[in-house]
Amino acid sequence: MESQLTGLKREGDHLRFTWSDGLVSALSIRELRISCPCAFCVNEITGARQVNPGDIPDDIGMKDMQPIGRYAYRVLFDDGHDTGLFTLEELRARCQEALA
Ligand SMILES: [Zn+2]
Repeated sequence: MESQLTGLKREGDHLRFTWSDGLVSALSIRELRISCPCAFCVNEITGARQVNPGDIPDDIGMKDMQPIGRYAYRVLFDDGHDTGLFTLEELRARCQEALA
């Protein structure tokens, strides 16, 4: 069975995720913004990333994170960007990478 997200907490410039199998990991809000998978940030045809990390403020935060059904979260960053959907699968993969 897939691991479920059981906890989500903001800690300064990071988000702390807790998963049902006990994995706990923190992801940087700025890193999430830079790797936003939405159609504005990634060229749908070439897959090329269109976000220049230099354009993302060091102190970027977020206003909200809303669950979309049971499979994803929509992140509302405080630079006004709110079209990014992060699937739980992707967030889980990032959490695991962050620990590696
Ligand atoms: Zn985006």
